[in-house]
Amino acid sequence: MSFIVAIDGPTSSGKSTIANIIAKELGFVYIQTGAMYRCVTLELLNNKVSLSNSEQIRKILERINIYFVKGQKRQRVIMNGKDVTELIRTKNVTDYCSDVASLSEVRHKLLQEQRRMSSYSNVVVEGRDTGTTVFPNADVKFFLTANPIVRAKRKQQELAQLGENLELINVLKSMYKWDEDAIKRKDGALKRAKDSIFIDSSEMSVEELKGKMMGFIKEKYKEKEEKYI
Ligand code: C5P
Repeated sequence: MSFIVAIDGPTSSGKSTIANIIAKELGFVYIQTGAMYRCVTLELLNNKVSLSNSEQIRKILERINIYFVKGQKRQRVIMNGKDVTELIRTKNVTDYCSDVASLSEVRHKLLQEQRRMSSYSNVVVEGRDTGTTVFPNADVKFFLTANPIVRAKRKQQELAQLGENLELINVLKSMYKWDEDAIKRKDGALKRAKDSIFIDSSEMSVEELKGKMMGFIKEKYKEKEEKYI
């Protein structure tokens, strides 16, 4: 029986950074759901598939194979045998990804994949609907956020590393739009699970955040161990 830690939250709330650290510390598989949506997007772009072509999309989804492998610093994303870790971060993929992620056939396929990954391993899964739709029975659920300025600064730094230098005010404006899209989306909307632990990390260092989250995880892990072993 696997142990599932679900971490949801808005963009740039720090969830990927902390999910990566926690998964490493615990030796769990880290399922980065956003990267999976990005992989499908990249594959559709590479094959010039229009979003109205359901038949082609179905074919792409049938043959797509995504998995994660340990990297030096961060884990690597492999799609159909190729390392696409950097390719899925391009602006083109980012711009198109939200439309791809709203297709129900894409969500259905990736939900199945995410559940399959958890069937043979303990996992830390991070996204926006993991504690609500994908793993409603996750052992520990977190909903992570931070104030908009902190999130916009993080996003600005992330974009700068990819060679895109934007004014903070413009990042902030985009952030409000992304948040609205994420909340209003019909399928896979960002929603806080009622039984999730809410953490605002605006004033916390990564170490503090890690300590707090690990405290909850260890407690739940012990409870489960005592119940089943
Ligand atoms: O987290 P990341 O920015 O890599 O996610 C890329 C995109 O994938 C998001 O902007 C969102 O549109 C989509 N996504 C989603 N459901 C998830 C994770 C990501 O729809 N669970």
